Amino acid sequence: MSSHLAYLILGSNLGNRSTNLENAKIKISALSETKILKASEIHKSPAYGPIEQPFFFNLALEVDTKFTPFEFLEHLQKIEKKLKRKKDSHMKPRTIDIDIVFFDDETIDTPLLKVPHYDWQNRDFFINPLKEINCQAQEFKNFNFD
Ligand code: AMP
Repeated sequence: MSSHLAYLILGSNLGNRSTNLENAKIKISALSETKILKASEIHKSPAYGPIEQPFFFNLALEVDTKFTPFEFLEHLQKIEKKLKRKKDSHMKPRTIDIDIVFFDDETIDTPLLKVPHYDWQNRDFFINPLKEINCQAQEFKNFNFD
């Protein structure tokens, strides 16, 4: 089984946002065949879109995984579900989103999975954490950020 280099963006804007991100990181690092190589700091940004919401906390991960892209997505979605189900002591909902932004330099365009992520170029909260960890995806390196 060969190794793959994947870039993820984790985001949370509900409940204890730093803890949600930390828990997601712990669960990702506990996956078999998977190792976190780099993690960015937490980047904070106002919520995207028309509805007023709390600030988003985001971070980027560089991950080495032996899973295929679809297997990896399935594992990440299980982690999302587990963390979304949890409530804290005040019974507040928690939310976590995990997006695969790049998976090697593969292009996948299916309803279940699109990589590179369809909107990464328009999201500073993807770009800034990915810059911080020096994202090696070719599409990222070739992009003109000016
Ligand atoms: P969201 O509402 O942002 O959590 O979107 C989740 C849905 O996006 C799931 O049904 C995934 O199958 C799909 N999806 C498509 N491309 C990706 C990707 N690159 N990373 C994560 N989810 C994706």
